[in-house]
Amino acid sequence: MAEKELKEFTLEEVAQHNKPGDLWVVIDSKVYNLTRFKDLHPGGIAVLIDKGVAGKVATDAFYGLHRHEVLERPQYKRLQIGTIKAQKSVIFGRRIGELSQVPYAEPTWLSPGYHSPYYSDNHRQLQKAVRLFVDEVVYPDAQLREEDGKRPSQVVFDKMADVNLHAMRLGPGKHLKGRVLMGGIVKPEEFDYFHELIITQELVRCGARGYGDGMLGGQVIGLPPVLNFGSPELQARIVPDILAGKKFICLAISEAAAGSDVMGLQTTAVLSEDGKEWILNGTKKWITNGTFADYFTVGCRTDDGLTVILVECGPGVETRQIKTSYSTAAGTAYITFDNVRVPIGNTLGEVGGGIFVILSNFNHERWVMCCSSARAQRTMIEECLKWATQRKAFGKPLVSQPVIRAKIAAMIERTESVQSWLENITYQMTHMTYKQQSQKLAGPIAFLKSYSTRCAQDTARDAVQVFGGRGITKTGMGKFVEHYYRTVTFDSLLGGGK
Ligand SMILES: Cc1cc2nc3c(=O)[nH]c(=O)nc-3n(C[C@H](O)[C@H](O)[C@H](O)COP(=O)(O)OP(=O)(O)OC[C@H]3O[C@@H](n4cnc5c(N)ncnc54)[C@H](O)[C@@H]3O)c2cc1C
Repeated sequence: MAEKELKEFTLEEVAQHNKPGDLWVVIDSKVYNLTRFKDLHPGGIAVLIDKGVAGKVATDAFYGLHRHEVLERPQYKRLQIGTIKAQKSVIFGRRIGELSQVPYAEPTWLSPGYHSPYYSDNHRQLQKAVRLFVDEVVYPDAQLREEDGKRPSQVVFDKMADVNLHAMRLGPGKHLKGRVLMGGIVKPEEFDYFHELIITQELVRCGARGYGDGMLGGQVIGLPPVLNFGSPELQARIVPDILAGKKFICLAISEAAAGSDVMGLQTTAVLSEDGKEWILNGTKKWITNGTFADYFTVGCRTDDGLTVILVECGPGVETRQIKTSYSTAAGTAYITFDNVRVPIGNTLGEVGGGIFVILSNFNHERWVMCCSSARAQRTMIEECLKWATQRKAFGKPLVSQPVIRAKIAAMIERTESVQSWLENITYQMTHMTYKQQSQKLAGPIAFLKSYSTRCAQDTARDAVQVFGGRGITKTGMGKFVEHYYRTVTFDSLLGGGK
């Protein structure tokens, strides 16, 4: 559709249109004709007429109540008839692919004038490309699917596969060999944990927690045991389709009776009489992506202790959706295994050595969660700073109140400390083998996860307070704050509680 031609007006001209039958307003130097819309205004006609915005500049009144995105919706965009002569718009909406201008909304290494020992030009190039990709491809789908509860759209998985994002989300390793990463920005042998940190943190900016887990959280935790402990034959058979976004995998450890207490899990695997197959029986609970998974990395009890086995969807496997307080886009499942037969070649690691496979896997899972948590906290700083600047109470912006400033300052302190500690641990990871990480970093990563997720809960509570009633409202100004507050505790629970 051709763009409508916009005229230029003076403020004096707009002022003539100040009656119910002829009602214009100015918002951020743009002129809107609300004559027909006034009857549909959700806040009623009175706020347009009686409060005196008709024919006037209504920028403060508008932004004190609404998100900028409202003006970008087609039904409101078409109400714009012109602009004010010689005035420029000063309020920017979501700037696709760009860095935020809000203080502390980006980590130090992305903020002008600051330095970091950890990130190279190559990391910066990847960040730029991933931000654009997420803003253009992932963000719009995230907002829709978080609402309708369907899993992320296949077209998004396909586009991610085209640039090998599924593979990169598993960190550095031989699974990257021969792949063109993000159009060739990073060479597979140069890809490190800071590249992975960047990808995880960029994805989190979508502000949709259920969708974020639906965006193959199960693969990020379910595929590493296959890559680290699976036989070459098994890897060759299943990994390519998973990294192409055509097949899906999840990690199935927790059970109704065994969550934190992994050693207590009760799903059994016994050998068939000919010794060629495992026969699995039991249930699993809270399994992310389980509802649409083709493969399940399952912790089982065997004669020699715990063993991890890769189960393929088939006879005897049944999955059911669990409704949680975030979107069903995550595909959280209750799974039943009823005499499921699995080839012995699907064993991951040593028979009886499952606890080492499971605990080693926790490190990467928890580190990914710390990357996400740090970035999500930063999103709250951005939301709160924007809101506290635009919202006026007692005749001045909220941000001029010391109590509000103290809350936002505390958010910044927490977020910056989490990010700094995270970068230190990530640096250690770039210098250690998988085995060294298992031995040396289990403690620090668990401490960081515990600290970060506690900080996140403090920040969620403070953000709701800064937003007032809007902090508990699912649409409008506070929608990201409400969502964050509702889902923030998930991080401290999963990946083994605390
Ligand atoms: C959103 C979400 C997604 C998940 N995805 C997966 C998945 O993909 N795959 C999977 O296998 N599991 C998954 N889980 C399960 C998760 O790993 C478990 O919920 C977690 O391990 C805690 O187990 P539980 O819920 O049974 O709590 P419990 O073990 O019953 O613990 C209850 C509470 O007691 C605390 N607690 C337990 N032991 C101790 C202790 N020794 N000292 C102090 N406090 C303790 C816990 O922190 C928790 O707060 C997911 C969970 C959630 C919430």
